Amino acid sequence: MTSEEELRRDLSQRVLLHRRRFLALLAGTGGAVVLGACSSDDPAPKPKPEATTTTTGAGPTSTTSTTLADLAEAPSAKGIESDPFLLGVASGDPLPDSVILWTRLTTDLADPTGFGGIGDTDHAVLWEVSTDEDFTDIVKHGTEPAAAEFGHSVHADAHGLEADTWYWYRFRIGDHTSPVGKTRTTPKDDASVDELTFAFASCQLRTAGHWTAYPQVVADEPDLILFLGDYIYEYPGGTGELAIPLKAEPVTVADYRVLYAAYQRDANLQAAHAIAPWVITWDDHEVENNYAAGTAEKAEDQAGFEARRVAAYQAFWESHPIRIDPPAEDGSLEVYRWFRYGTLAEFFVLDGRQYRSDQVCGDQVGTNAKDCPDLANPEHTMLGPEQEQWLAKGLKAADATWTVLAQQTVVKSLVLGDVILNVDQWDGYPAARSRLLDSIYQAGLQNVVVLTGDIHAGGAADLRMPNATTEGEIVAHELVAPGISSPGFGDIAKGLDLAAFGLAYANFEDNGYVRCTVTRDTWTTEFVIVDSIATETSPASVDATVEIKAGTPGITRI
Ligand code: FE
Ligand code: CA
Repeated sequence: MTSEEELRRDLSQRVLLHRRRFLALLAGTGGAVVLGACSSDDPAPKPKPEATTTTTGAGPTSTTSTTLADLAEAPSAKGIESDPFLLGVASGDPLPDSVILWTRLTTDLADPTGFGGIGDTDHAVLWEVSTDEDFTDIVKHGTEPAAAEFGHSVHADAHGLEADTWYWYRFRIGDHTSPVGKTRTTPKDDASVDELTFAFASCQLRTAGHWTAYPQVVADEPDLILFLGDYIYEYPGGTGELAIPLKAEPVTVADYRVLYAAYQRDANLQAAHAIAPWVITWDDHEVENNYAAGTAEKAEDQAGFEARRVAAYQAFWESHPIRIDPPAEDGSLEVYRWFRYGTLAEFFVLDGRQYRSDQVCGDQVGTNAKDCPDLANPEHTMLGPEQEQWLAKGLKAADATWTVLAQQTVVKSLVLGDVILNVDQWDGYPAARSRLLDSIYQAGLQNVVVLTGDIHAGGAADLRMPNATTEGEIVAHELVAPGISSPGFGDIAKGLDLAAFGLAYANFEDNGYVRCTVTRDTWTTEFVIVDSIATETSPASVDATVEIKAGTPGITRI
C-alpha cells in the first residue's frame, strides 16, 4: 500500500458507520447497520437497537412502480396521539452511495421531561427513499429505532443508493407520515464533476429574529448546505413564536431538547432542511458562549459544566442528520470528519471547540497583545493534537481541485495595532494558526478555501504566510458567513479601509448566508443578505460577489 493509499484509508476510517457496515458484513449480519457493534479502536458507543434496510424492486434504475401496499407496514404509533413530525425531516453527510435521514419524534415541543410528548417508550419508524417526489418508485426502505434514550431521534443510513443522484425521502409511523425531504448523494470519489453549488451559514439566534435567509436558500436548490456552528444559542427569552420555553439556560438533556425543538419548529428552517443534505459542525453556543473544551465560559459556572457539556453534546447528536456515533461513555463526540465531491472538492469539517486550549488572558474582547504573554504559548491548540495531525495528513493526501476547511472561527488576523479584536478566534491561538497555515503550505495545495462562521459578519480575505496582513504568499482563502439571525456590529465596516486589513469584502451589519458555485476553473462566492429579520419573509439580494480562479491565488471582487 502506498503512503497515499494509507492516508486515504486513514481518512475514510473517519466514516464510522461505513466501517460498522463492513464489520457487520464480516460478522454475517448482512448490510444492517448495528450501532452497538464496535471494534477495539472505537470509542464505546451507547447501545442502540438494530436497524434494518431493505431494497425494494430492482434498485434505482427500476421502472417498476412500488405501491405502499408492497412495503412493510409502518411500525405502530401506539401511544402517539398526534402528529409526531413537528420538527420536520432532514438529511445529511452524503456519500456516493448513502445519506443519513433524520427526524425526531415530537408531539409536544415544550415537554419539560425531554420526551417531546411521547413518553419514555421506545418506538421505530419506517423510512422510504424514492426516485420521485410522489413515491411511486420507492427504491429503499427500512425500519429505524426512535429510542427514548436518544430523544426519539432517528438516524437512518439509507445506503445502496446511486451516486450523484437526487432522491426524496419520508418517514412513517402508524397513520402518520412525515413531510417529504429531498436529498442527494455525492458523485463517486473519482468522478469528474462540472459544478457544485452549496450554501453555508451559521449563527441563528432564535430570539433575535426570523430566519428569512432560508427561503432564498430553498429557492437556490443547492446540492449541499453546510452549517458552521451556533445552530442554537443557550439563551432563554424571546416573545411570541420566537419564545424559548425555558426559564433559565439549559443544563440537562431535557433542557437542550426543548431548546432544539424551539429552534427546529421553524418552518423556514424545516424547508431548508428538506431541500438538500446538510453537513453540520458546531461552535460554542451549542453548549454555552465561549466555552473551551472542558472549561466553562465563567469560573462560577464551572461546577456542573462537565455534565452540562455531556447533555448538550447528546442533544446535538440527536438533533442532526450526522454520520457519527452517539456520544461515547465519557460524553465526547467526534464531530470532525471528511467527505469529498468527486474530484472537484474535498471537505475537512473541523471541530474548533471540543479540544481547544482555554482562551488566553481572561478571554477579553480587545486584548492587548503586549499585556498577554500567554499568546506566545506554543502548546496552545485550537483543534487538539489528534485532529491537527489528522488534518495535516489529510491535507497531504488531498487530490481534488479544491480543498475546503469547514470550521467555526475567523482565521484571518483582525488586529488593530496591538489590540486583538477577539481572542476566541484563531487570533487568540497564533501558534496553532501558524501550524494550520504551515500544514496547508507543506501539503503544496493551491486551491484551499476556509469557510468560517461565528462572527456574524460576511467577509472574504486571503490568508498569507506567515500570517501577514497584506504581504507574503497566499496559502488559502477565507470566506466568512454573516449570521442567519444573530446580530452584527452595525455599519462599522462602512468607511473602513478594507484593503489595509487585507479584506476583499466585509459586511458587519447584515444577516444572510453565502452561496458558492464551484467549477474546476472558478470558485464564485455570492454574499446573500436579507432586508430584515423582523418578519417571517423578506427580500434577499446579493451584496457582493468574489471569485477565486483555480491555480491563481487570491480573491477578486467582481
Ligand atoms: Fe454566533
Ligand atoms: Ca460562536
